[in-house]
Amino acid sequence: MEQLVRRASDLLGQTFGNGPQVVSAAPGRVNLIGEHTDYNEGYVLPCAIDRWTVAAVRPSTDRVWRVVSDAYPGEVVEIPLEASCDPQGPQWSRYIQGVLVWWLRQRGELPGAAVALTSNVPVGGGLSSSAALEVAIATALEGLTGQRLDPVQKALACQWAEHQYAGVPCGLMDQLTAVVGEADCAVLIDCRTNRFRPVPFDTQRYAIVVMDSGVRHELAQGEYAARRQDCQEAAAILSRSHPHVWTLRDVTITMLEEHRDQLGERLLRRARHVVTENHRTATAAAALVSGDYELLGQLMVESQSSLAGDYEVSCEELDLLVDSALGGGALGARLTGGGFGGSAIALVPAAQVGDLIATVQRDAKQQLGREIRVERVRPSGGATLIAAPHL
Ligand code: ADP
Ligand code: MG
Repeated sequence: MEQLVRRASDLLGQTFGNGPQVVSAAPGRVNLIGEHTDYNEGYVLPCAIDRWTVAAVRPSTDRVWRVVSDAYPGEVVEIPLEASCDPQGPQWSRYIQGVLVWWLRQRGELPGAAVALTSNVPVGGGLSSSAALEVAIATALEGLTGQRLDPVQKALACQWAEHQYAGVPCGLMDQLTAVVGEADCAVLIDCRTNRFRPVPFDTQRYAIVVMDSGVRHELAQGEYAARRQDCQEAAAILSRSHPHVWTLRDVTITMLEEHRDQLGERLLRRARHVVTENHRTATAAAALVSGDYELLGQLMVESQSSLAGDYEVSCEELDLLVDSALGGGALGARLTGGGFGGSAIALVPAAQVGDLIATVQRDAKQQLGREIRVERVRPSGGATLIAAPHL
C-alpha cells in the first residue's frame, strides 16, 4: 500500500502542483461464499483483501472537485459541489459524484479539492473496485471534515452513490466489506439487519487465490437485474400463502417444493439457489470457526454448481478456472461477485499455492489461449485514513 500512497501523492503533485493533506485507502474484496444472497436479505461471507484504492486529496477554495485516476491516465474530471446536480461526466467520476452529493445532502458543506486516485484493485474484475473507490472517497471526506460516519451508514451512503449516480443496483456487501473488513478475517454479514461479525481465517495454513478470467460478458448488468426481479417474483408468489415471507430469506426448501407449480421451473431454480446458498453460507461461517477448511471447500464447490446450474450466472471461462483449480489441489473453488466473467477464487492449503497458480495459469493458457492473472490475496483490514489534519 505504501507504494500506492506514494504514487497517489506524486500523481496529485504532477497534475495539480501540490501534495495531499488527506490520504485514504479502501480495499477490494472477495466473497468466500453467499452469492446473490445480499439483495435477498440473506447471509454473505466476504473478506476485504490486500488490494487497495488510494485517494490523495488536497482541499481548494473553489466549489469543484478535480479528480485524476491512474486507471484513466491523462483525464482530469471536474465535479461541481452541488447537492442537486444530476449525474454527469464520465461514468467513473459518477461514483465519486454520488458520494459527494450524499455528503452535501446529509452532512452539509464540503471544501473543493484536487484528488488523485491510484489503485491495484483490478477495475471491473469482480473484486469490487467500485466499492473501493466509493469508500476511499467517503473515508477521505471523513478526513477532510473531521466528522466520522457510523460504518453501516457509510456503506449505505456508498451504495446510494452507486445506485443513484452510477446507475448500478448493487447490494450492500461490497461497500460494507470495504468499510468493516479485518485483517486475517472474513466478515459474516446478515443483509437483513446489516449486522456483521468478523470470522477468523487461518492465513498461516490456508490461502485464497484469485483467478481473473479477464472477461466481462455484456449481459452481466441486464442479467443481474433479471435475477433480482426473479427473486422478488418468487418471494411474492410464496408470500400469498405464507404471509411472513418478505424476501427469499424467509423461505425454506419445503416451501419451494410445496409451491413448485405456482413458481414454475425458472423461479423454482432461482429461489432454490438463494435458499440453499443462505444455508451454505451460515454453515461455512461455522466451518471457519471450527477450522474445518475441507467443509468450507466443499460448500464452495456446491455454491459454484448451484450458481452455474440453478442461477445460471457462471460462464465457460469461470467454469474452466474452477475446474482447473480443483484439479490443481484446491479444497474448493467458485466464481466470486456477480458472475458472467470477472474472477473466481480458490481455497488451497498455503503450502500448495505455488503449484495451484502454475496449474491454473497453464490450463488457462492452453484452453483460453491467453495469460491470465492468478494471485494469492490476503484477508485484510477495511478502509483507513493514512493522513488527515484531524487524525
Ligand atoms: P468491479 O467493482 O467488480 O471492479 P464495476 O463495474 O462494479 O466492477 O466497477 C468498475 C467501475 O468503477 C469502473 O468502470 C470505473 O467506472 C469505476 N472505478 C473503479 N475503480 C476506479 C479507479 N481506481 N479510478 C476510477 N474509476 C474507477
Ligand atoms: Mg462493483
